[in-house]
Amino acid sequence: MRVYAYPTTSLGDIGRMMTAKQCPGPNSSKWSPCSVGRVIRNPASVKCDHAVYKYFKNLGVNIINPLKDFNGEHGGMLVGKKGAVTKGALDSKGATFAIGNWPGYIDSALWLGCQKKLDTNEKVASNDGPRNSWLTGLMKCGDCGRSVMVRKYKRKSDGETVRTLRCRGKDFLDCNIKPQMRIEQIEGSVQNELEKLLERCKPAPFNNANETNELELELIRIDESVTNLMQVLKTQKVSTLTVGYINQELEKLTETKKKLMEEKRNINRESIFPPKIIFSALNKNDKRAVAFSYLETVVVYEDSISLIWKK
Ligand SMILES: [Zn+2]
Repeated sequence: MRVYAYPTTSLGDIGRMMTAKQCPGPNSSKWSPCSVGRVIRNPASVKCDHAVYKYFKNLGVNIINPLKDFNGEHGGMLVGKKGAVTKGALDSKGATFAIGNWPGYIDSALWLGCQKKLDTNEKVASNDGPRNSWLTGLMKCGDCGRSVMVRKYKRKSDGETVRTLRCRGKDFLDCNIKPQMRIEQIEGSVQNELEKLLERCKPAPFNNANETNELELELIRIDESVTNLMQVLKTQKVSTLTVGYINQELEKLTETKKKLMEEKRNINRESIFPPKIIFSALNKNDKRAVAFSYLETVVVYEDSISLIWKK
């Protein structure tokens, strides 16, 4: 799970790793990417807390347990008709989530990160792998919008390894962009921008999940109560007395929410801050991880680039 959370590893990589460790797969001695994916999808090992609740709730999965059971201690399970929960894409209407009576051991943030990666399922192509550049997968052609690949080859004249940029649209013969910038220049200027950004922003505190989970659950509870009360106001004929009562309740809930938010801010303030990241000192994989978390796309034009930041 920890290995897969890295943006550069594929399901196949993990399969090969497991096979190399002589750890047999479910149906044979080898692990297929598909069987690795199923293990990562399985919520049995994740510590179910408020974040896991939100994840499944947003997917539209039917959740059996009350909110208070999401205390960050137990693993969970998805049940549903065959195919509804085992396929790559979850058929949320046919699935039900329940918390198990066994302890979870994987932090929800890590588990959810892996789910997000599976959801987007980035495929890694052969001579365009992340090994060639930490920007692979982020660059798009400014002309046709297809991805821009970085290829590596040995120059015949002097045996030097060189890297070139090539728009994938070239294969379809309808894009004639000829990027004049070298990949080294592009990496350099993106690195500069990321350094500036990291310089400006304060590092986020380590989130102490156990300390804030209770609080987060309470906040969800309040939001749901508010929605319910609003529903009552909207759908039923209610007497003025009831309206008065509901308004009072809403006010109370808002007040409590304000207090909780304040409390949350205080907890965050007291948390430990991680050391500042010096971008240029990172290795390729970490550079890639940072670039992917801040950048949406690097648009490559003939003689310039433009950066699209994540919102
Ligand atoms: Zn193109």
